[in-house]
Amino acid sequence: MALAGKVAAVTAATDGIGLAVAAGLGRAGARLVLSSRRAEHVEAALARLRALGLEHVTGCVCHVGRAADREALVQKALDTYGGIDILVSNAATNPVMGSTLEAEEEVWEKIFQVNVTAAAMLIRLVVPHMEKRGGGSIVLVSSLAGYRPFPALGPYSVSKAALLGLVKALGPELRPLRIRVNGVAPGLIRTRFSRALWQDEPTLQRVMAAMGIDRPGTPEDVAGVVTFLCSPAAAYVTGETVVVAGGAASRL
Ligand code: NAP
Repeated sequence: MALAGKVAAVTAATDGIGLAVAAGLGRAGARLVLSSRRAEHVEAALARLRALGLEHVTGCVCHVGRAADREALVQKALDTYGGIDILVSNAATNPVMGSTLEAEEEVWEKIFQVNVTAAAMLIRLVVPHMEKRGGGSIVLVSSLAGYRPFPALGPYSVSKAALLGLVKALGPELRPLRIRVNGVAPGLIRTRFSRALWQDEPTLQRVMAAMGIDRPGTPEDVAGVVTFLCSPAAAYVTGETVVVAGGAASRL
């Protein structure tokens, strides 16, 4: 129960990696505020976590690209639990696949708004509340694609590289406030988001061979690392992104 008494807000927490992260933090004792764009997804995720025996779970709608929704998420944590100690910024979008240079300006703007700017704005909102608690922990979900751009996912990959930079920029800036900022960079994780890469066996085998991995990861593979980064066991770790990619090469 390394996170007993801590309050954690997680974005995009109703499926895949975010839901597993919420479950991992909850099992470690954290009180949870889940969020995603759709109210029915939030309700279903809350029911799943309660079925796991987690009692301190609540949630709200938060499309991270909307300022009012981001404020509502933070307010939900304050109203329900009186503060916030942990933020996992997990939401991302990828509206197109194809040539990097053929991606329209609106596509670049949308990807950067949701994947990068929204994360920075959410951090700006939570920092004063973490400061009041004497510190906190923030984890940004980046991607192996940030180190090694995935074919046909150019703008998305560049946005995930920007998150590596955001972790490096904020680590030192928030250190005086005792707020740690770290990231995880998942490789191929079997979720709805990545299904085009694993849904048929020949494609999966081709992708695994190209990445040099033996199996796709699970959301729980990522959740374990996020829970560690949020815990006192990682008290001396800040400004780092941990690659969770089954051994795939990951140099920038
Ligand atoms: P997923 O299983 O498809 O789940 C996506 C979640 O995001 C859902 O809860 C969805 O709920 C929510 N969501 C989507 N857009 C949102 C928005 N604008 N604001 C708030 N919530 C939003 O996806 P995943 O694979 O777990 O991906 C989670 C993160 O891991 C992303 O940052 C992704 O880039 C990263 N990642 C994934 C992989 C992989 O192989 N799966 C690899 C590297 C990195 P609603 O529909 O209700 O909004």
